Amino acid sequence: MLNIVLFGPPGAGKGTQSEKIIAKYKLAHLSTGDIFRDHLARQTDLGKKVKEYIDNGLLVPDELTVGILKDAMLANTGATGFIFDGFPRTVAQAEVLDQMLTASGTPIKTVVALDVNEDVVRTRIEERRKVSGRADDEESKVVRRIDEYYQKTVQVLPYYEKQGKLKKINGVGAVESIFDNISSIIDAAK
Ligand code: AMP
Repeated sequence: MLNIVLFGPPGAGKGTQSEKIIAKYKLAHLSTGDIFRDHLARQTDLGKKVKEYIDNGLLVPDELTVGILKDAMLANTGATGFIFDGFPRTVAQAEVLDQMLTASGTPIKTVVALDVNEDVVRTRIEERRKVSGRADDEESKVVRRIDEYYQKTVQVLPYYEKQGKLKKINGVGAVESIFDNISSIIDAAK
């Protein structure tokens, strides 16, 4: 079982790199952002509960996020591993994930953190806004999402650093060369 966390600020390239990782390593993709967007589109009860948070660029409360994560993992029990994209975003989420994976004897093997500075992140999201149609890619929401990242989500980095699992790589450059660096880390962790 190969469980990997792909970490980074909004616009770091997590979605792009996840697709390539999945194709190469045949892992199940677990993006909490994608799952939430699916609930929003289908206007489910959960979608209605999380809409305000997501549209405003705020983190969804942990109990709701952990709930969808557990469901998605249970729906993929045959997976040979997961790539966690956009989860965990708080230390509490990281702790729950560890508890779940430790219970099943399949702990996180490595955490790849894409290092991208704030100016690059803003420019990339600005570009994505032209095509994504995402309400939370609007300028005022982007500022809040980036703030949420620097206030809450970065605290997850020392959590994994203490476990010796954190691998930071430069997230600026050609998609292929970033992917080569990610692949080397995954191959070494396997
Ligand atoms: P993303 O596509 O990963 O940028 O996620 C889009 C939005 O979904 C975020 O801005 C949050 O509002 C929400 N979200 C996604 N994943 C999480 C998470 N792990 N914890 C809290 N909120 C999340």
